Amino acid sequence: MAKMSVLWLQSGGCGGCTISLLNAESPDLMQLFELANIELLWHPSLSEYSNQQVLDLLHAILNGQIQLDALCLEGSVIQGPHGTGMFHALAGTNQSMMHWIKALSAKAKYVLAAGSCAAFGGITAAGENLVEATGLQHDGKNWGGLLGKEWCSKAGFPVINIAGCPTHPNWITDTLVQLALGQLQLDDLDELHRPRAYTDHLVHHGCSRNEYYEYKASAEQAGDLGCMMEHRGCLGTQARADCNIRPWNGGSSCLTGGYACINCTAPQFEEPHHAFGETPKIAGIPIGLPTDMPKAWFVALASLSKAATPPRVRSNATSDRVVIAPSSKVKGRKV
Ligand code: SF4
Ligand code: SF4
Repeated sequence: MAKMSVLWLQSGGCGGCTISLLNAESPDLMQLFELANIELLWHPSLSEYSNQQVLDLLHAILNGQIQLDALCLEGSVIQGPHGTGMFHALAGTNQSMMHWIKALSAKAKYVLAAGSCAAFGGITAAGENLVEATGLQHDGKNWGGLLGKEWCSKAGFPVINIAGCPTHPNWITDTLVQLALGQLQLDDLDELHRPRAYTDHLVHHGCSRNEYYEYKASAEQAGDLGCMMEHRGCLGTQARADCNIRPWNGGSSCLTGGYACINCTAPQFEEPHHAFGETPKIAGIPIGLPTDMPKAWFVALASLSKAATPPRVRSNATSDRVVIAPSSKVKGRKV
């Protein structure tokens, strides 16, 4: 059986998605490629080829001498200045990376955006976006980007947006393995073309602060144990990802580390228009409520929950360690 060939390119990003990918475990990245019959044609950080050898490879793909099954782009597409893309030229070619990405996308059976930069523009597109950074098929929340809304790969797929900043290593490896096995279907992608294997969940699912959320017992400052939705900007009830079900680096997540979820799998997460660690409110009520709960219900539930908060949960929420331990019942009596 022929191997599935993968080419990894980088443009306007920080390289963090590659660092994340290298944290794939059980099996590690190279073992996984071997087991799944995947051939990595080239990766700028992991491969020995450089200069002319890389250009020869790229030309061989364009000429049809080498079949390209999956093109992965990490980092946004740099379209500046003035749409020329020449802020990021490919060394030795006097042509923009934008040009190469477009030409190679036309040859690939599947095109994958590895991370939110490649999917939507991401951090590179923040602020004035002087480099004219976009995603492959999105410009922030809008369709467009380099390839446009109607673009499809040779296999009839849109760009597969494995969004996240960085993206989780297993979101990438699972998608590649599914493609290698011919098991990924269009139905397996959500409305933003992210794999539903991770976006059918919320970051809130499995968060270790769920008990505090239930009672609306909120963290007030950095390091507090309570839920970070009310005061510290947590978007976990809206963010679509399985970060607390499928932890990172064998056991962690932003929430476990004490950081609020900033919804990095969503387009334009980089422009919240307030500090990431603050919750914007109107009349004391957070603006960003859970997406599928009417505001009036949330307000009613929150006031009921607050009235019923056990002293243990209330005290621990605003502390950086457990100050009141859960009590146990022994033979019908509390100890
Ligand atoms: S998505 Fe985030 S981690 Fe990945 S390249 Fe862009 S800025 Fe870096
Ligand atoms: S801190 Fe965020 S993810 Fe965790 S329980 Fe609160 S709202 Fe949910």
